[in-house]
Amino acid sequence: MSREDPQAAFTRLFGAAPEGVATAPGRVNLIGEFTDYNEGFVLPVALDKVCRIFWRCREDTQIRVASLQYPNQIDSFVNNADYEHGPHVWSRYVRGVVAAARVWQRTTKGIDLLIDSEVPEGKGLSSSAALEVSLLGALNATNTWGLSLTDIARLGQLAENDFVGCQCGIMDQLVSATAVAGHALLIDCASLECTPVPLPETWAIVVLDSNHPRQLVGSEYNQRRLDCEEARDSLGVSSLRHATRKILSAHRAELSDNVYRRALHVIGENERVLTLVDVLKQGSLPLTQALLADGQQSLAENFEVTVAATEALVVLAHEALGNQVAARQTGGGFGGAVVCLCDHRDINTLLQAIDAGYPQRTGLHADVIRCDPGAGLEVTWYD
Ligand code: ADP
Ligand code: MG
Repeated sequence: MSREDPQAAFTRLFGAAPEGVATAPGRVNLIGEFTDYNEGFVLPVALDKVCRIFWRCREDTQIRVASLQYPNQIDSFVNNADYEHGPHVWSRYVRGVVAAARVWQRTTKGIDLLIDSEVPEGKGLSSSAALEVSLLGALNATNTWGLSLTDIARLGQLAENDFVGCQCGIMDQLVSATAVAGHALLIDCASLECTPVPLPETWAIVVLDSNHPRQLVGSEYNQRRLDCEEARDSLGVSSLRHATRKILSAHRAELSDNVYRRALHVIGENERVLTLVDVLKQGSLPLTQALLADGQQSLAENFEVTVAATEALVVLAHEALGNQVAARQTGGGFGGAVVCLCDHRDINTLLQAIDAGYPQRTGLHADVIRCDPGAGLEVTWYD
């Protein structure tokens, strides 16, 4: 499908050319699943698929926003309006960011905005964080707010938690804001310290969307959070981040089997994140494969968030490439996507195996999203 040039579209919609563009990527999490809200470690990668927001400041207090992904829909509101949903579901994210900034005593001047994103929506690649972070990059630059990248991530999360109404952790916004190209990002979710970790250049990242309909996601996700809180309280630690296998065994008799296994997942998963950081330095695919396989098994048996479709994708990947592909379900669980790491030269073998086996085993078709590790927020003013 031929796409309209976004700068030409901006001029068509708003009557003058944009003054600049802010760009922020989507992400995929390599390992560290359900650890963020336990103040643990995560290791996501920013993608080379980005959201771009073109802007032009206005003389008045009006904010107008359009998206090339939602043609013929414009939202228009004043900069100090109370948060309300507006005419389009997607523009909640824009109104939410403007409202969140006001919580931090920052009211933007009037501005025209055009969104153009390559991050597929609702596939677990965090198109929402890419949108929030690029928008905050644009508002921070035009209003000279002086926000740090961490501030931008925290404000994006605030917008999503308190205005859009999704209780996400801070991983997505932080990696979208601060990622370094060619690197994964180790995030300590307690201190928010971020450490870029180089990824071997010969490795490809392939995301396989299972297209399994995600059901009960919200209630089950929340139940897992409650299980983790129960474990934390029973173990007498301030967060599961501080739990160890020794503490867990000492309290085993007091915990229900479910709660025990949830805590076991979080403890093991934090270990796996830190081990993978070392393994990436060695560039070993077989060791990476072993870690992601352990993670997948723990997601299945301890955290109980996998489904037959994502399990089939992982099995098919291993059948195709053995220990030369690391694969596991990524994201909030109960379906969604599988992340695979393999050598660039092996991508076709992998994809042929998925094509041949997945529909037959599940009745579903997998969408393939090939990604390179991209950079975080960038803001450019046009001359
Ligand atoms: P994801 O896993 O992709 O972040 P979410 O449900 O959290 O899924 O966020 C997707 C929502 O973000 C979309 O439904 C839409 O409201 C908004 N969004 C993402 N990209 C765009 C875009 N290019 N234009 C307008 N809205 C977008
Ligand atoms: Mg999202």
